Amino acid sequence: MPFGIPLGERLPEHDEHALETHHNATVANMLPACGALFGATVILFVLWDYWIAPGRVALTAPVRIALVLLGSVGYRQHRLRWSAVQRAGFVYATHASAMIVAASLLPNGILLGLAGIAASVFLVPLVALTGAAFVRILLVPSLLLLVLGAASLSPYGLINSALLYGFAVALAAAIMVVVGAFRRQAFRSEQRLLHNARHDSLTGAANRGYLAELGQRAVALARRHTHPLAVAMIDIDHFKRVNDLYGHATGDNVLRHLVKTCMGSLREADLLGRFGGEEFVCIMPETGAEEAMACAERMRRSVETQRVDSGKGTLSFTISIGVAVLHPATGDWESLLKDADDALYLAKGSGRNRSILSAASAHGAAAS
Ligand code: GH3
Ligand code: MG
Ligand code: MG
Repeated sequence: MPFGIPLGERLPEHDEHALETHHNATVANMLPACGALFGATVILFVLWDYWIAPGRVALTAPVRIALVLLGSVGYRQHRLRWSAVQRAGFVYATHASAMIVAASLLPNGILLGLAGIAASVFLVPLVALTGAAFVRILLVPSLLLLVLGAASLSPYGLINSALLYGFAVALAAAIMVVVGAFRRQAFRSEQRLLHNARHDSLTGAANRGYLAELGQRAVALARRHTHPLAVAMIDIDHFKRVNDLYGHATGDNVLRHLVKTCMGSLREADLLGRFGGEEFVCIMPETGAEEAMACAERMRRSVETQRVDSGKGTLSFTISIGVAVLHPATGDWESLLKDADDALYLAKGSGRNRSILSAASAHGAAAS
């Protein structure tokens, strides 16, 4: 198979939307410079008009300038709030129309300028990601070419021009399909790499770096909106014994079971990350002390009832959990983790297989 993604195939809805957002950002970056360059080229072609028919420049120059000025509204984001692809489409439609109208004002202009007009069609695959966008961008200039061609060319000239222009459009469409497959493949590879860089390969939970990134973002959001935020630090009890008695592979299996079980007890907005070894951290946005303790207990109880096949019979395991809630005024990610870790230490010291709310969080909850 020449492409990882078959030609013309779209990604799943969510990925296609993400790709569109990504593509829009790229087009938005290119558009001010590339649009202005295209505009300058269209206006500079007034020299070509002069070469063909000096007497017509008084007509063609204002057409070129007016349509390019109209299209230049799309170079940058305006109050219209169009997407970058929509703006690029508008820039293309106005600028290509300037070329077509100017050519139609010259004797034999459409025939003489057809190569340039057809060449500009190859700009469209740079911008259009879908067939619908491709058609929308090319519709106005193509109709304009047909109407002005019909008005100024012989039937033979019109058919010849339509065939050559149609050939350019078909080639550009094929390029869009091939480039689209490359783009989708690159996007998918990037997503996969990003996912692997952010997640623990054994359990699939967020890794330590990504956990910190998500945690800091959650703290910033909670503080900005003065919303509650809780974390739970989870540690497997006597995990070393599991490894010693059943082997490392079973230990790994226990870690996978733990993540699966905890995920099953969490809400969609909650996040679970591997802090290191057999320690995990759960971030619970919009969650106060009481709710966080209830969630921790839910996780602890479901882990307790799990049975893991070890090859030497089934085994069960337990976890200890330290819970902390963010202090809305002074808390940060590090202090939140420290509070949860202190509570976890207490849970371990008081017999394991239990959840404890950090003293700082308990005082905060009592005070509020
Ligand atoms: P405690 O109840 O006090 O937490 O005791 P513990 O035995 O769980 O704690 P300790 O920190 O002494 O041991 C943690 C063990 O976790 C030691 C290490 O070999 C094991 N471990 C860390 N990462 C992995 C892993 O990825 N796979 C496996 N199988 N074991 C791991
Ligand atoms: Mg442990
Ligand atoms: Mg530990």
